[in-house]
Amino acid sequence: MSRSIKRVAVIGSGVMGAGIAAHLANVGIRSDLLDIVPKSLTPEEEAKGLSLDKREVRNRLAEQGKNKLLKASPAPLYDPGRIDLITPGNLEDNLDRLKKADWIIEVVVESLEVKKEVLAKIETYRRPGSIVSSNTSGISITAMAEGRSEDFRRHFLGTHFFNPPRYMKLLEIIPHQETDPDVVRFMKDFAERILGKGVVLCKDTVNFIANRIGTYGLMVTVDEMLKGGYGVDEVDAVTGPPLGRPKSATFRTLDVVGLDTFVHVARNVYENVEDPKEKSIFHIPPFMEEMLSRGMLGSKTGQGFYKQVKQNGEKEILALDIESLSYRPRRKLAAPSLQAAKTGDRKERLRTLLYAKDRAGEIAWNVTKRTLLYAAEKVGEISEDLVSIDQAMKWGFGWELGPFELWEAIGFEKATRRMKEEGENLPDWIEEMLRSGIKGFYRTDREGIFQYLKGSYRKVEERPEFISLERLKEEGKEVKGNKSASLIDLGDGVLCLEFHSTGNALGSDIIQVARFALEETERNYEGLVIGNQGKNFSAGANVMMMLLEAQDENWDELDLLVREFQRFTMSLKYFPKPIVAAPFGMTLGGGYEVAAAGSLIQASAETYMGLVETGVGLIPAGGGTKELLIRFMERIPEGSKADLQPYVNQVFETIAFAKVSTSALEAKKLGYMRPTDTISIHPDHLLYDAKQKVLALAQKGYQPPQKRKIKVVGEPGYAVMKLGAYSMRQAGYISEHDQKIAEKLAFVLAGGRLPAGTEVEEEYLLDLEREAFLSLAGEPKTQARMQYMLSKGKPLRN
Ligand code: NAD
Repeated sequence: MSRSIKRVAVIGSGVMGAGIAAHLANVGIRSDLLDIVPKSLTPEEEAKGLSLDKREVRNRLAEQGKNKLLKASPAPLYDPGRIDLITPGNLEDNLDRLKKADWIIEVVVESLEVKKEVLAKIETYRRPGSIVSSNTSGISITAMAEGRSEDFRRHFLGTHFFNPPRYMKLLEIIPHQETDPDVVRFMKDFAERILGKGVVLCKDTVNFIANRIGTYGLMVTVDEMLKGGYGVDEVDAVTGPPLGRPKSATFRTLDVVGLDTFVHVARNVYENVEDPKEKSIFHIPPFMEEMLSRGMLGSKTGQGFYKQVKQNGEKEILALDIESLSYRPRRKLAAPSLQAAKTGDRKERLRTLLYAKDRAGEIAWNVTKRTLLYAAEKVGEISEDLVSIDQAMKWGFGWELGPFELWEAIGFEKATRRMKEEGENLPDWIEEMLRSGIKGFYRTDREGIFQYLKGSYRKVEERPEFISLERLKEEGKEVKGNKSASLIDLGDGVLCLEFHSTGNALGSDIIQVARFALEETERNYEGLVIGNQGKNFSAGANVMMMLLEAQDENWDELDLLVREFQRFTMSLKYFPKPIVAAPFGMTLGGGYEVAAAGSLIQASAETYMGLVETGVGLIPAGGGTKELLIRFMERIPEGSKADLQPYVNQVFETIAFAKVSTSALEAKKLGYMRPTDTISIHPDHLLYDAKQKVLALAQKGYQPPQKRKIKVVGEPGYAVMKLGAYSMRQAGYISEHDQKIAEKLAFVLAGGRLPAGTEVEEEYLLDLEREAFLSLAGEPKTQARMQYMLSKGKPLRN
């Protein structure tokens, strides 16, 4: 049967229900968001003279859930305008809407009883054949399906999103025995292709995969902390980035999640597992019980493992003393390995920490050892394969490496022998690996990735949409490269220019490989993708290099640098073959200028794009100012006599205020992306999508854009923008230096002192960009801004 999901009903409009409805809206899917009818009026409703039978009151919960989406941070919606795709309602008056839904997702409180009641109601109203799922964190899907009709059971499964649904990549899909395999296949494909999620199929066991291993990891961390007499802050210093985990580490994460929520999830395992040894780990220690009863739940109650206080007008974060449950100043863990583990590649850093014989190394090793062993014991019970466990932990808990990847990274044999020496019981299959001299859990070759399962290596199923640049390089597909950039053959006649400098900052090294990329593409290939798989596409030009030149007053050098960059972006723009840029994450300043110069942008949905040069006291001078102006001019219909000024003013504001998009969709609204540029929802499909775009453009007989003159607003327009900057200064919104930068920017955007309506060449605007840039670079306040950005990582407003 051919299926599609056009309309969804989300039952429960709390944190997760509203978040899921928002993500559906992000990808253009309409939903009904339904919740219970309130039993009493709020004082505001009473004051308004409302009664319990009024729709406004009856829909209150869902309306509130929807409205909170506009205030939540980070933003659940790609664009606030998408909120209109969500229709609130209630579970008494609007149940008939369930008939229209292709997918009904239950997201109510975590209680089997309540969930079963809601599912029974859904059964009465749903259309046979429609999909029904539960967003439970760990309740048995089989138990929930009990008592429902056969059609319902066949179309019922678990779909466990992580919080927040827009940003967390993991979606656990949990079929029960009777779920139709076609429904599972369809939902997996839908979740990956349409929702952009990383799907892991789970067995219907308590807490599924990520919450089972993750909760275990947290419980053993608490246990090791108590045994070793560490402070919560000391544990966090080790269990965050040094172990390849998020900055919020262990206890700051718990504060965000809420201790009550965490305990609920841990108790679920405690109550549902048989093995007394496993049970004991999930037993909540007395100090946590005490924290619960005192309401020390974390951020939502203002105190948890940490507490923010104001002392002498300054904010300070205090840490909880576990013994006395009072707060004390934070302390640093004195352990040389924490410092030593900052250098080297990921493997080296992990090995330095985990094999160190100091307090950091000790707790890091004990926590890791126990978590790895638990994951190994659970293979077969919670998942038939290793990849699912690794992916669940990376995508659901933000670990850089899953347990088996980490085990291998620190040396499978060395780590396993140490575990044995320490008297640990190893699962039989791990003993077997050790005996047979198997070196690791994974093997990669030209045929694909293989995982070691049940005595042999088995191929891991991979989507063709996933391209790994790292793997291509290992396979010898790097055509050229230096320490900052590589040129990689993606196959089918398409090359990829990859940046891999620190922060992917742009400098001469990258331009050198880029030049070669253009020559090579012109000679032997169909086209080029500019993309990478680092943390961000590029945070811009190398500020350090520019600051040094400016401080040394090497104006000729700086002029040459800017000219070289301008020539580069122009050569991308007028290149005879298609160039598709694939930005994602931070795509700022020079990073944007490169992306904007290609034939087309294929952006990840999560792209934070902006011309932010004013933050370091400069203006975009690699063609960015000109390109944004051109994009706004393109909005004016051909031959129209429309006034140019309002368009130019928008460009002026966008650059002067260094506006950065919160999504690719917003980048289109801000004008950074053209309406014809396209978006990839799944982050791992980005390079593949960009490559397909190159091939499609090439096949259509790609022609570079024709050189066109640009009509400018000239001197009168310059005066308008200058006046705008002056008023902002007078009103105290901007500093004197901001005003100076704004005036330089206005001069470029106006096309200098020409009569209004003059048509100018692109090169003329580039010269103005460069002049403004150089004169600002000589300003002490601009240099102070650059310095501040380099040392503090945020803009200085001086
Ligand atoms: P929440 O408390 O924010 O929202 C629960 C919603 O259920 C509320 O809007 C409430 O009005 C509604 N509700 C309560 N009783 C109901 C009933 N009898 N009938 C219908 N609706 C009822 O909770 P949440 O955090 O959104 O969690 C919802 C589900 O998602 C739970 O199963 C939870 O375990 C799961 N989950 C939560 C997270 C998370 O981080 N919050 C993550 C993954 C999964």
